[in-house]
Amino acid sequence: MQVNILSKLPQNLKVSSTVRNQLVNCRWYSDSAEADLVVIGSGPGGYVAAIKAAQLGMKTVCVEKNATLGGTCLNVGCIPSKALLNNSHYYHMAQAEFKNRGIDVTGLSLNLPQMMKAKETAVKSLTGGIAHLFKSNKVTHVRGHGKITGSNEVTALKEDGTQEVVRTKNILIATGSEVTPFAGIDIDEEQIVSSTGALSLKAVPEKMIIIGAGVIGLELGSVWSRLGAKVTAVEFMNQIGGLGIDQEMAKSFQRILTKQHMQFKLGTKVLGAQKTGGKIIVNVENVKSAKQEEMECDVLLVCVGRRPFTKNLGLEEMSIELDQRGRIPVNSRFQSVIPNIYAIGDCILGPMLAHKAEDEGIICVEGIAGGSVHIDYNCVPSVIYTHPEVAWVGKSEEDLKSMGVEYKVGKFPFAANSRAKTNDDTDGMVKILGDKTTDRLLGAHIIGPGAGEMINEAALAMEYGASCEDIARVCHAHPTCSEALREASLAAFSGKAINFS
Ligand SMILES: Cc1cc2nc3c(=O)[nH]c(=O)nc-3n(C[C@H](O)[C@H](O)[C@H](O)COP(=O)(O)OP(=O)(O)OC[C@H]3O[C@@H](n4cnc5c(N)ncnc54)[C@H](O)[C@@H]3O)c2cc1C
Repeated sequence: MQVNILSKLPQNLKVSSTVRNQLVNCRWYSDSAEADLVVIGSGPGGYVAAIKAAQLGMKTVCVEKNATLGGTCLNVGCIPSKALLNNSHYYHMAQAEFKNRGIDVTGLSLNLPQMMKAKETAVKSLTGGIAHLFKSNKVTHVRGHGKITGSNEVTALKEDGTQEVVRTKNILIATGSEVTPFAGIDIDEEQIVSSTGALSLKAVPEKMIIIGAGVIGLELGSVWSRLGAKVTAVEFMNQIGGLGIDQEMAKSFQRILTKQHMQFKLGTKVLGAQKTGGKIIVNVENVKSAKQEEMECDVLLVCVGRRPFTKNLGLEEMSIELDQRGRIPVNSRFQSVIPNIYAIGDCILGPMLAHKAEDEGIICVEGIAGGSVHIDYNCVPSVIYTHPEVAWVGKSEEDLKSMGVEYKVGKFPFAANSRAKTNDDTDGMVKILGDKTTDRLLGAHIIGPGAGEMINEAALAMEYGASCEDIARVCHAHPTCSEALREASLAAFSGKAINFS
């Protein structure tokens, strides 16, 4: 509950109307003053940390500037993109694959507003779910822009101009990230869009160009390609899939997406873009030859990454300096230079992933409560939710080569997996990398149906230091796609799979 500052003044104090008017617009102090923890930001890092802290007995406040909880992930990230990926996949299946499966559909058409509505329903139910979880875990939600106004004080700046101050023992910054702009290209979120606008286009563009063939660009490109757009991704690097992907898997992934009619211009730099006569002209240059050309599209998606968001957070005033990439430097307990001010998630070093932010949030507050703090970033999986999905955890072949680690490889194609064959969904493979001497699992790379689910088995194995033989000896249900993971592990361990030679 908020209390007006006027009610805090001694009753017999005479206050002129001018002062009274000024005080009305002054700070509001919260009953939650003297919290144990104030979390700034309610994304997957912040909301999970707030719930965990409350479960550990801390009096917890979560300050969020947006109207809904859940941050980038739930509102304009993971959740809406996966809703569109799922439903556009169904549409594509109905259009291109049902017939061969013995399902005749007549009069098939796309109802884009309804697909968007289904996405919004998913977002609404999940963001509303957090509000419910806050209530049941007794986390106080304060709406406003959180600013650190002292090492034990956070001020929530409200839309109506008022302020609410919360005194606290600890502060956790979980303010996440924002879209990285492209110098010289203005995003209007209608014709020139960021990932946010690409989640809400009102019509399927005839031609779409994506600047950046990283994870988010490929996912959103897949959505619009399945719905009928001619999609070309322009990428500065010579591979797709972003950093960290195994090169062999990146090449195979590109072949699969090309088969699905997505086009790629790799090793190509975007110089600029202009709107002309309802179209957008994109100027590009080949990185090697410096040859320039013009490309035309109806919608341009700028997808060159995300950057930490720490605007007006009071960091400068607190002498908390950012690193060169705008991230908050923290130690292994997630403490900033001020020991009771912590930071986690997209605004610190590391992969910008929801599950990484969640894990950091949980162990950070466990640390505040006196527990040990440990996270093995090598075991954080990455997933691209196209169809087939691409997922990996641990080291790539390129990593191991640069580290000078001797390794062995086991591969198993989904074309030899009984479930994938039965489902006529055989694109992709599993590739397992194991230590040549100890057989310890060093990396798992999957392109295939359900790769994003399957990778968790490999992550579990890596967390427990399993060998390739360990995975190969675990009984896997049949027929399942996970059997391909077992077979690839068997191939890495013994040199031979059973169902493929
Ligand atoms: C299109 C897209 C798809 C994605 N898909 C995936 C995926 O499939 N899997 C995955 O793991 N990751 C995905 N991501 C990345 C994922 O969304 C982020 O890594 C994750 O949301 C980071 O969580 P966070 O808690 O650090 O920050 P955020 O989710 O960015 O949340 C930060 C919150 O802090 C609030 N905030 C900021 N400053 C203040 C302030 N001063 N006061 C109050 N509130 C403030 C913001 O309003 C926001 O709600 C995707 C991202 C995008 C854009």
